[in-house]
Amino acid sequence: MTSEETQIPEELKGCYENLIVIDIGANLTNKKYGRDLDSVIQRAKDAGVQKIMVTGTSVRNSKEALRLTRLYPGTIYSTAGVHPHDAKSMAEEELWAELRQVAAAPECVALGECGLNYTKDFSEPHVQRAVFKRQVELACELQKPLLVHEKAAQEDVLRILEEGGARLPPVVVHSFTGSAEQGLRYLERGCYLALTGYVCKDKAADGVRRLLADRLLPLDRLLVETDSPFMYPNVRASKLPPHVKSCLTERSMNFVNRYCTFQRNEPCALPAVVELAAGFLGRSAQDVALATAFNALKLFGLSH
Ligand SMILES: [Zn+2]
Repeated sequence: MTSEETQIPEELKGCYENLIVIDIGANLTNKKYGRDLDSVIQRAKDAGVQKIMVTGTSVRNSKEALRLTRLYPGTIYSTAGVHPHDAKSMAEEELWAELRQVAAAPECVALGECGLNYTKDFSEPHVQRAVFKRQVELACELQKPLLVHEKAAQEDVLRILEEGGARLPPVVVHSFTGSAEQGLRYLERGCYLALTGYVCKDKAADGVRRLLADRLLPLDRLLVETDSPFMYPNVRASKLPPHVKSCLTERSMNFVNRYCTFQRNEPCALPAVVELAAGFLGRSAQDVALATAFNALKLFGLSH
């Protein structure tokens, strides 16, 4: 080979080395990224993360997430929502008007995260339900997908979603941490499941690993996200089966080991999450990357 032939244009270099992946949920408005967001996003790109959806969890940070889409056009997309923990903050009607305005922006590609969390009592359950319901209605009206957060509240979540009827847009259960049985119930209702580094943590025989290993979760319903700064994929402590461990590449683990910690996970950890999911599924990481990226592009329309 001549030296000319080996010269690969800078922007194409990643294509040969990386999985191409899309992080459908990262809390990059978190103050933990206040000092070095540029580097965090550059690292994500270096790792093969082509696009990142920045999660809104309150009116204020939904606005902030939308602002980030303008700073990183084509890379960052936003969502607009009120987390169940923050449900009690939505007492004023004015805030709903603001949420609606942010959610209607073209760079905002989904409603949420919203939902119910009965394991914490930051907001009372009846307040959580009322605030979730209104966001489901807003998603129906704007016809944007819903990112649902659910902890110990599956029945109520499904009941409220059902009220959306035929107008209900696609539903993604974000950061799924339930049992295989609960996962199946969501899949039966047509929902997508988004997996995180939690696949390391959950060693339950009937948990998310079984959903993958028994291939109960079809590739066309699978999405991946880091949920940064949370859900650090703690590969060392997770006693992974050898066939899963062998799917982790040195390249992906370098990003995790060099840049991510329990205190602050980053979108650059996403290729490792994809490799883990692929390991449990018994598929190639390339197939899982391609399928999840395609699902994200299609579902959220991340083309512009
Ligand atoms: Zn969540």
